[in-house]
Amino acid sequence: MSRSRQNKSYAKKSLGQNFLADQNYVEKLIVSLDPKRDETIVEIGAGRGALTKKLVHEAGKVLAIEIDRDLTPILRDEFGDHDNFHLIEQDALELDFKSLLALQSIPLKTKLVANLPYYISTAILQHLISFRKSISEMVLMLQKEVVERITARPGTRERGFLTVLIEAYFEAENLFDVPPDAFRPAPKVWSSVIRLRPKSGGFPVDEELFRDVVSLGFGQKRKTILNNLKNAKGDLGERIESKGGVNKTLKETGVDPGQRAETIDIDHWIELADYLSGNDPDN
Ligand code: SAM
Repeated sequence: MSRSRQNKSYAKKSLGQNFLADQNYVEKLIVSLDPKRDETIVEIGAGRGALTKKLVHEAGKVLAIEIDRDLTPILRDEFGDHDNFHLIEQDALELDFKSLLALQSIPLKTKLVANLPYYISTAILQHLISFRKSISEMVLMLQKEVVERITARPGTRERGFLTVLIEAYFEAENLFDVPPDAFRPAPKVWSSVIRLRPKSGGFPVDEELFRDVVSLGFGQKRKTILNNLKNAKGDLGERIESKGGVNKTLKETGVDPGQRAETIDIDHWIELADYLSGNDPDN
């Protein structure tokens, strides 16, 4: 790689560029992902290639996504002569992963890995939910606090909209923590690596309605589920009305009106949304 190119690529805070520099953690992350010769690995935010370097040697195919046009020439210089390396110079939030993977001549089992830019990690996670059927497993580095939120059990303060959304579609496993000094530049906070495996069934019938119910349920965290759902407007409001109101909806789905959203488990959230979708088996 030419020196001038390297010099041009200062870490951009606005793109969440904290590059993984400690090889022990690179190794740990790759071991957790366990890439194989007969697998495609999608990497979001390849950066300067800390993970890519391992992936091109261990995986069947590497689809490296990077938004920063100052970094893509560095990646191309370094990995361009590996036949299994494909660079996608795009915003991961705009990317249709399903179409991208459909372009492969031989469809391989696909895993996804990312040391995610923290400023868009929640948005990326939500975006990836829609492509969960195309991906067998994800190993993600996130802010430790976000991983604590994702894995929060019912009744804990950290539980929120993102927890319930992820729990509806994935089994989450908290793998290990990574200190700030493993990165250049060092972020202010600790990171954690998480594994997400798509569940095979038991999903809410209507995904959009599910999101709306959970989002409103957590609307004001200090309020009860009853008081939050009373604020329902538009389509959700009409559905609740047509089912006899909030109290009846909660009673029919076994949710205590005095509960706060953070105490409701995933099965009850799904039951609540399915009841309102009109697909409740008892209805
Ligand atoms: N994977 C590298 C590593 O571990 O050192 C880089 C990780 S760095 C935390 C995040 C990377 O994601 C940066 O290279 C950044 O430019 C890239 N990025 C930020 N926003 C992005 C987006 N919307 N789509 C694709 N890549 C993005």
